[in-house]
Amino acid sequence: MHRPFNFSAGPATMPSEVLAQAANEMLDWPDASGRLSGMGVMEMSHRGKEFLSIYESAERDLRELLAIPAHFKILFMQGGGLAENAIVPLNLCGQKLDRPTVADFVLTGSWSEKSFKEAGKYCQTHVVASSQANGYLSVAAPDTWQLSSDACYVHICSNETINGVEFHELPDLKNLGSNAPLVIDFSSHLASRPVDWSRVGLAFGGAQKNLGPAGLTLVVVREDLLGHALPICPSAFNYTTVSDNGSMYNTPPTYSIYMAGLVLQWIKRQGGIAAMEQRNITKAHMLYEAIDASGFYVNKVARSCRSRMNVPFYLHNEALNDAFLSGAKNAGLLQLKGHKSVGGMRASLYNAMPIEGVAALVAYMQEFERTHG
Ligand SMILES: *Cc1c(COP(=O)(O)O)cnc(C)c1O
Repeated sequence: MHRPFNFSAGPATMPSEVLAQAANEMLDWPDASGRLSGMGVMEMSHRGKEFLSIYESAERDLRELLAIPAHFKILFMQGGGLAENAIVPLNLCGQKLDRPTVADFVLTGSWSEKSFKEAGKYCQTHVVASSQANGYLSVAAPDTWQLSSDACYVHICSNETINGVEFHELPDLKNLGSNAPLVIDFSSHLASRPVDWSRVGLAFGGAQKNLGPAGLTLVVVREDLLGHALPICPSAFNYTTVSDNGSMYNTPPTYSIYMAGLVLQWIKRQGGIAAMEQRNITKAHMLYEAIDASGFYVNKVARSCRSRMNVPFYLHNEALNDAFLSGAKNAGLLQLKGHKSVGGMRASLYNAMPIEGVAALVAYMQEFERTHG
């Protein structure tokens, strides 16, 4: 079935074959051998053997695909990326109560700004670098960061969904003289590229950008970071409690976990994360090249940190924005409007966006320029 190409930043497009499989299994879920269970996934007890098998394959596939080492726990939580902005300091800043705990933040756009502000409710916060003054169009080089000597963690947003800025390499904090664990908000590029876990203490992300439907929040945390929660940390959000209960301290978002599991199986069929990354590089290159080659569209982000996943761009003549968007919709290209805080356009090129979708967008942009330029 051919559907329009959907460039939404999130909740975002999912592979058609995954949605079709879920539709087939909606009323009666079959196990791997095809034996029918007599119930849909939404109707299953989270502790029953059927759902446990769904859960365990999703976790196993995630660990295998992202090459997550054994000393990291995978937690399936709820609350989204924004809740993690509070849950992270609640879990990591409780140890050194004899002196103030500080969390370090690198400000690279809207999402890291939000994380910084929220964490300030639970611990001291310190900005080690900020590109706000240049409109968040670049990332300060890590060797210029003013890291605290004694931070409980260092936070970065490894892909800024709104500003279109991505870390193409994670900072090596040890090399920068810091022993703090690196926390990454990888909501909008998780599973789009490999992760260097040797540089990461904790990674979190909402599923609704690149992994499945909203409702599931993924947390990958190094074991030694468990057990340092503040006393006020809610039990359902305490990583140790969640981990000790196999993410079933309370009812997990069962259907979203099932859908994420189907997406992970789809990624495996596509050739895994390395193959996804190659395709994502190709797609991003096609779109940036078309923007840069035109005098009609512009992307202002420094080339070294342009996001592969979220490409914000502007028409030089903003009076044409509405015509651009309605023409795009008629051409089967959906949800290209930029975030309200920055305006313009944004094309999100998550894993499930095929190369043909980007080719169709580029062709539409060139045709629109020809007829309106
Ligand atoms: C979407 C997003 C969030 C917020 O996720 P919610 O699920 O809405 O809480 C946080 N960080 C980044 C980088 C995002 O893209």
